[in-house]
Amino acid sequence: MKWIDIHTHKAYPDNSEVIFIRNAYLLEIENQKENYFLSNGIHPWKVNQKNQLHLLSKLLGNKKVLALGEIGLDRFKPDFALQVELFKKQLEIGYQYKKPLILHCVKAYPEIISMIKDYPFPVVFHQYEGKLLQTQHLLERPLVYFSFGKQLFRQNAPIVLLNTIPPNRIFLESDTMKLPIQSCYSKYCQLMNFEPEFIQNELAKNFEAVFGFDCL
Ligand SMILES: [Zn+2]
Repeated sequence: MKWIDIHTHKAYPDNSEVIFIRNAYLLEIENQKENYFLSNGIHPWKVNQKNQLHLLSKLLGNKKVLALGEIGLDRFKPDFALQVELFKKQLEIGYQYKKPLILHCVKAYPEIISMIKDYPFPVVFHQYEGKLLQTQHLLERPLVYFSFGKQLFRQNAPIVLLNTIPPNRIFLESDTMKLPIQSCYSKYCQLMNFEPEFIQNELAKNFEAVFGFDCL
């Protein structure tokens, strides 16, 4: 069975048995030639670069671009108002291309939650750090998923959130870590006392639910 790395900035070798979505920053257009899945979007740290919306519309038509992302809001970075404006515009483009979202959110959960309220396609919060109550509300909606990676390795791993979110709403990610995704599976299974095969199976089903690819 395959491993799924829902959000990474690296490419795995062809024989790795990992299905991954590599986040290509919008202007790394040469990556579009590679033979793996990508997400493309205007990262909230890069809102100041010009002409990105036009380019994004072009790239999202590519079948290898499975998701619009990572997009979102980051309260610790400059130009919050511009971040909001570009986030809204990107939602319109995502709507047009029917793309799931991979979201980056730092200290702006209420804003993002209200802006994606009517978004009709699946949504994955990458490196999820929401509050318990927000999480419970989000779980009431179908097709909202929560991805964990770095946080699993912290001394204060988010056990309450992990206990709240059932495996059929979870993804795992290596993001910018050097570790392979298998380490995230092991850590998550160790923290939650799950069998690795069970989690591989659950995440494969989640991947199919969100992106329509059968990888069991
Ligand atoms: Zn990332």
